Amino acid sequence: MTSSILEIKDVSYSYGPIKALDHISFEVNKGEIVALLGANGAGKTTVLKNISGLLKPTAGQIFFENEEITRLEAEKIVEKRLILVPEHRQVFSTLSVIDNLYLGAFHHYKKSGKKEIEQDIEKVFGLFPILKERKDQLGGTLSGGQQQMLAIARAIMSKPELLLLDEPSLGLAPLIVKEVLNYVKQLRDEFEVTVLLIEQNVSASLKIADRGYVMSHGSIIKQGDSINLLNDPEIKEAFLGHT
Ligand code: ATP
Repeated sequence: MTSSILEIKDVSYSYGPIKALDHISFEVNKGEIVALLGANGAGKTTVLKNISGLLKPTAGQIFFENEEITRLEAEKIVEKRLILVPEHRQVFSTLSVIDNLYLGAFHHYKKSGKKEIEQDIEKVFGLFPILKERKDQLGGTLSGGQQQMLAIARAIMSKPELLLLDEPSLGLAPLIVKEVLNYVKQLRDEFEVTVLLIEQNVSASLKIADRGYVMSHGSIIKQGDSINLLNDPEIKEAFLGHT
């Protein structure tokens, strides 16, 4: 049985005169990986910023775990364990890998003991063994792919219910893109985290997602199960080239 964890109802957003979101509605069910697709400038990042409270919708409502969060401050939304991993993998470059992970646990540090945090770090190292090998290395000296893994690992440390991932594969080589997206799938399977994922790489993201929504000019123009979207002639034409 599926139950909705996130509901976007008729949300609009404008940057001054620029209408970036035009009455969009969609939902994410608990345990799903949902891909939000679309060309550059379609409005995908603006959606994630509205959900995470960095921007406030000009109209419409957002519900997380059946509670309205439309006007809630970003910090309060983080406390509800709705966590955004923004574009350009923002790891703390002058801190070690392990300190980056401790910082990820900061928000629930008061509630969790040190022992629980250390257990979580071990679990994260189980998922990303390379981060264990590099635990004392400075974040800024990791490769692009490893920094992306660290950004995701740090987000896991805040025990997310819902993870919003903004283009985790940006700037990564094709093989590494596949690796990072496979980690996202493993993360859902092993940590039971629900994921809303923005990706330029439509084919790779639909291969790990359960469902997808396609945006164009601030509206959702198509939605469906990943398999159907992958086989949709219009999607193939617009995003998948001849693959
Ligand atoms: P990309 O993949 O390029 O990040 P996107 O689908 O995430 O694209 P958004 O970044 O959400 O798209 O942008 C949606 C629209 O809003 C675009 O027309 C963009 O130019 C505009 N926009 C985004 N940020 C701002 C801003 N700070 N000020 C004004 N317009 C903006």
